[in-house]
Amino acid sequence: MTALTPRTTKHIGQTAPDQTVPWAGGHPPWCARDHRCTAAHITGGEHVSEPERWKTSHGTLIATRYHNARGGWVEIRTVTALDPHEPIAQAQCRHLIAVTHTVFDRVLRPGKDTNHA
Ligand SMILES: [Zn+2]
Repeated sequence: MTALTPRTTKHIGQTAPDQTVPWAGGHPPWCARDHRCTAAHITGGEHVSEPERWKTSHGTLIATRYHNARGGWVEIRTVTALDPHEPIAQAQCRHLIAVTHTVFDRVLRPGKDTNHA
C-alpha cells in the first residue's frame, strides 16, 4: 500500500464538484490569492492554486490548479527515482506514461462520475 500524504492544508480538490461556493473576492476557494494569481491584474490572467504536494513511497506528486476565462485545468508533475540501468529506466518511463494515460482516460472520460473514480 502506497502512503499518500498531502503536504498542504488548502487542497485543490476540496470543493465537491456539484457544490456552488461563492468566489470570495472574485477568487475560487482553492486560489492561492497571492502573486501567482494574475486574474485580477492582467487581461487573460488566471487563478492559480498553491502546489499540492503528496509524498508517496515512490516519490512526490505535485498538482497545481488553474482557471481563466476559457476554463480550468490542472498540471500534475511527479518526481520519482528510476532504475539505474538504462533499459529498465526507459521501460519504467514508458509504463508510467501509459498507465497515466489510462488513469486520465478513466477519470476524464465524458459522462464519468468522478466522485466514484
Ligand atoms: Zn485568484
